[in-house]
Amino acid sequence: MEKKNIDWANLGFGYIKTDYRFVSNFKNGAWDEGVVTEDDKIVISECAGVLQYAQTIFEGLKAYTTADGRIVTFRPDLNGERMENSAVRLEMPVFPKERFVEAVLKTVKANEAFVPPYGSGATLYVRPYMFGSDPVIGVKPANEYQFRVFTTPVGPYFKGGVKPLTLRVSDFDRAAPNGTGHIKAGLNYAMSLHAIVDAHNQGYDENMYLDAGTRTKVEETGGANFLFVTRDGKVVTPKSGSILPSITRRSLVHVAQEYLGLEAEEREVTLEEVKDFAECGLCGTAAVISPVGKIVDHGKEICFDSGMNEMGPVTKKLYDTLTGIQMGTIQGPEGWVVEVK
Ligand SMILES: *Cc1c(COP(=O)(O)O)cnc(C)c1O
Repeated sequence: MEKKNIDWANLGFGYIKTDYRFVSNFKNGAWDEGVVTEDDKIVISECAGVLQYAQTIFEGLKAYTTADGRIVTFRPDLNGERMENSAVRLEMPVFPKERFVEAVLKTVKANEAFVPPYGSGATLYVRPYMFGSDPVIGVKPANEYQFRVFTTPVGPYFKGGVKPLTLRVSDFDRAAPNGTGHIKAGLNYAMSLHAIVDAHNQGYDENMYLDAGTRTKVEETGGANFLFVTRDGKVVTPKSGSILPSITRRSLVHVAQEYLGLEAEEREVTLEEVKDFAECGLCGTAAVISPVGKIVDHGKEICFDSGMNEMGPVTKKLYDTLTGIQMGTIQGPEGWVVEVK
């Protein structure tokens, strides 16, 4: 397989069109069998449900080359399962998770020439998504839907080294207590755009959102879950019904317990106690873990022991172990690394 002529190490995180994508349509109550196509354009009614009432959900995962040269994805079944849950919450038809995994693998296989080589740090980002495609003007779910998977090569996340992030405690809320924070829907991102633009304008990397009900408990950022490490080496992750269940975070907790012999606890975390943690990281597919060095709460600085220059020691071990499993240099649990054949 001849790879595309791309400067992998210097890629950023922007859309680059690849050769193939997967498309399946839902009509008259059923999904068609779907096709891999070269056509990257979508033609829908001006009144499509997605355009009027934001009926759209998505997923994100990566395909990459392992140390021994296999092209793999990481736990795609969990993305498929999460997308099923997202669909149910937005009254969309479920695209079955087995078919989801098959569609992801097929799309990656078709775009093999865009999968970055091992060691480049770059990956092929995979974006499955679904939207209401037929006209809806009265407020109700669409009748027809399209499920698609496209891929785009993205560069190494920690280009130029790891730099711990500075967060601010946001005055905006991300998700309501019984709302849609736990599903991966475009609408959760639309309403976070103002908060992130404002944070960037004020010199912060990300927003720490609190629970909208009491504004005393830690939720997550716009696109990543928190992981904290206590001063006696225990891993703590916030528990809330309005946090998006990150696959990376769940995998890291398993790694902490089963590979590193650490205690891990998923529980409510108050903003008040954040100053007592030794390390803080953000978990998500893009970075695996980004270390957080500082959180600013309305002028009051919370500085973690790990500082502003490097990952904390436990964060680093978690990062090295999970990326080792992903790259095939450490044996992972059964089913975590799924080969594209
Ligand atoms: C996608 C997402 C995450 C990270 O989930 P992963 O499965 O680890 O990529 C975290 N928070 C939000 C709000 C997200 O949309």
